[in-house]
Amino acid sequence: MAEFVIPPPPQATVPVVGGGAFPVRRVYCVGRNYAEHAREMGHAPDEEPPFFFAKPADALVTGGADVPYPTMSANVHHEIELVVALGQGGRDVPVENAMALVWFYAVGLDLTRRDLQAWAKGAKKPWEVAKGFDHSAPIGDLVPAAKVPLPLRGRISLAVNGEERQTGDLADMIWDVPHIIAELSRYFELCPGDLIFTGTPAGVGPLVRGDRVEGSIAGIGSVSARIA
Ligand code: MN
Repeated sequence: MAEFVIPPPPQATVPVVGGGAFPVRRVYCVGRNYAEHAREMGHAPDEEPPFFFAKPADALVTGGADVPYPTMSANVHHEIELVVALGQGGRDVPVENAMALVWFYAVGLDLTRRDLQAWAKGAKKPWEVAKGFDHSAPIGDLVPAAKVPLPLRGRISLAVNGEERQTGDLADMIWDVPHIIAELSRYFELCPGDLIFTGTPAGVGPLVRGDRVEGSIAGIGSVSARIA
């Protein structure tokens, strides 16, 4: 193999509860997956199949580290989400086999430059600058999927400075995890190391510097971040 001409970039990882680190390959995200959130964004739920976007793996922030307020935005929003971590891959995965790919869960934040997303929607431009910016994906530690009963249910909530802003239940997802995996695997070959952010419940809103964000999902875990 040819020698690297610059030092190789570090491998993105997420800690696993109880020890070890999960190496991340790709970070996929689902848009508008809770009816109340679709409505608050001005869309009718249930009218379209799930749609996908991605964040770079090095946008992950672990261990509750500070998140610098991003450049080029004056309206950065929190979105609390269930994250699934794949230990097995596949393409054209049948719904009934999809859960075999899920080895871990976590709680994540899909931080969003809402002003740039609104611009992108209006200008028919891509979402990367709105969704895939540096430090845009804080995530808590991974818990083994074997410890989480199916079907997935449980309160998902987010508080800013101790005040609750987002609430929902995993059971309220429009597209459940098996359907998300099945559909995503029609577009991309899924691989071990892939993460999927599965959409946010209602109550998204702006963050400002100094905010302390705490999110949790009953039975799965939590995520925290301070906007610096
Ligand atoms: Mn989201």
